[in-house]
Amino acid sequence: MRLSRYFLPILRETPKEAEIVSHRLMLRAGMIRQEAAGIYAFLPLGLRVVNKITAIIREEQNRSGAIELLMPTIQSADLWRESGRYDDYGKEMLRIKDRQEREMLYGPTNEEMVTEIFRSYVRSYKDLPLNLYHIQWKFRDEIRPRFGLMRGREFLMKDAYSFDVDQAGARHSYNKMFVAYLRTFARLGLTAIPMVADTGPIGGDLSHEFIILASTGESEVFCHRDYLGMAPPEADTNFDDAAGLQDIVDKWTSLYAATSEKHDAAAFGALPDDMRVSARGIEVGHIFYFGTKYSLPMNAVVAGPDGTLKPVHGGSYGIGPTRVAAAAIEAGHDEAGIIWPEAIAPFKIGLINLKPGDSAVDAACNSLYARFQGRGVDVLLDDTDERPGGKFAKMDLIGLPWQIIVGPKGLADGKVEVKNRRSGDRQLMSPDDALALLG
Ligand code: ATP
Ligand code: MG
Repeated sequence: MRLSRYFLPILRETPKEAEIVSHRLMLRAGMIRQEAAGIYAFLPLGLRVVNKITAIIREEQNRSGAIELLMPTIQSADLWRESGRYDDYGKEMLRIKDRQEREMLYGPTNEEMVTEIFRSYVRSYKDLPLNLYHIQWKFRDEIRPRFGLMRGREFLMKDAYSFDVDQAGARHSYNKMFVAYLRTFARLGLTAIPMVADTGPIGGDLSHEFIILASTGESEVFCHRDYLGMAPPEADTNFDDAAGLQDIVDKWTSLYAATSEKHDAAAFGALPDDMRVSARGIEVGHIFYFGTKYSLPMNAVVAGPDGTLKPVHGGSYGIGPTRVAAAAIEAGHDEAGIIWPEAIAPFKIGLINLKPGDSAVDAACNSLYARFQGRGVDVLLDDTDERPGGKFAKMDLIGLPWQIIVGPKGLADGKVEVKNRRSGDRQLMSPDDALALLG
C-alpha cells in the first residue's frame, strides 16, 4: 500500500476520553473511530489487524475439527424464552421490536440459536461429536463501556459450540478447544495463560479463562512463573487422540493459575517465592462446559445406540478478536507507539522514502516495494511529502515490526537502513540483503 493513496487519519493530539494506552494509541494511529459509546468503526489500519487475528483463529479452529457457519446478529426473543434466559439476561441485552411488533434482540451470544439449529437436524449419536463456530458481531449493553475495544458494546466474537453424547465426549471436545486456544494465542504472538474460572451451578473443572498479563487488566490474577515460558502444542497435534490431548491439558493445568474469584491464597503461598506471579490480566478467551443446560429445556436430544433419547452435552468457547487487538497493544508498546507482534501487524514493513522526487530514491523504493509485494509481504510505502521526522514518528506510532529507510546518502553507498521496531536495532545493508532478510 502506498501511503499517499491510503486512508490513515493519524491524530496529533492524544484524545482526552481515552484512559488506557491501547485506546489512546488506536485512536491516534487511525485504527478506530468511536461512533457511539462502546461502538466503533474500524478504519482501514484497524480492520487489517482484526482480519489477521480472525484468520489465525479460524485456521486453528478448523485444525481442531470445528466447523464454521454464520448465524445472524438479530435473534428472536422466543428462542431465549425457551431457554429461560430472556428475562435473566437483564439490561445487557439490547431488545428490539420489528414493524410487526415482534420481539427481537441483538445477540449477546448464540447458545440458544445454535441449539435450535442442532436440534432441527441432528438425530443420532453417530453424528456426534460436532463443534460449530462463527465469527460474528455481538452486542452487550455494558453498564460502563470503556477502554475502547477492551470493553465495547458492539464487539466481535469467535464463539464455538460443541455437542456430545456424554460427559466424556464433552471433555474431549473441551480439550480440543483448550489446545486450539493455546496454539491460537501463541500464533497471535501473545502469552495467554489458562486460568481456572467459575463454572457456575454446574461445578466441575471445565472452565478456563485465557488471560494476557497487562497492568491495565481488569482482573487480578495469580500464577506460576513457568507459564510465562511454556511452549505451545505443535501444529501436528492429533486432535482425535483423546488421551494425548488430556496429557497436554493436564500439563497446562497442573501449575497454579487463577483469577481472584478462584484464588486459593494458601496454594499460591506454597509456591517458591520466585515462582509466584501476581499481576493484572485481560480475559481474551473463555471456554466452558455447561452440560445439558440448554439441551434439556430446548429438547436437543439424540438417540443413543440402544435407541433411547438423551439430551446432548454442550460447551461454549469464546475469543474476542477486537479485545485481542487492544490487549496486544497493552502488552506491546513504548512511548513512541504500538509494537505489534509480527503475526497481527497491519503491515510487516514500513518502507520510508526520505526524499520523494529524487529519482534514485524513488527507483529504489519502487523496486523494493514491487519485489516485496511479489513475495506476498505486506508493505506500507511512505511516499508522501512529509518531513523525515514526521515519517519516523508515524511509523513508530503505527508499530509495524520492520522499517526500511531509504535516503540519498545511504543509497550513494548502495545501502538502506533496516530498523527493528521492537529492539530499535538498526542495520545498513543493500536492498537485496533487506529483501533476503524480510522477504
Ligand atoms: P467479561 O468478563 O470481560 O465481561 P465475559 O466473561 O462476559 O467477559 P464471555 O461471554 O466469556 O465474556 O465472552 C467471550 C470473550 O468475548 C471474552 O473472553 C472476551 O474476549 C470477549 N468479550 C466479552 N465481552 C466483551 C466486550 N464487552 N468487549 C470486547 N470483547 C468482549
Ligand atoms: Mg468470560
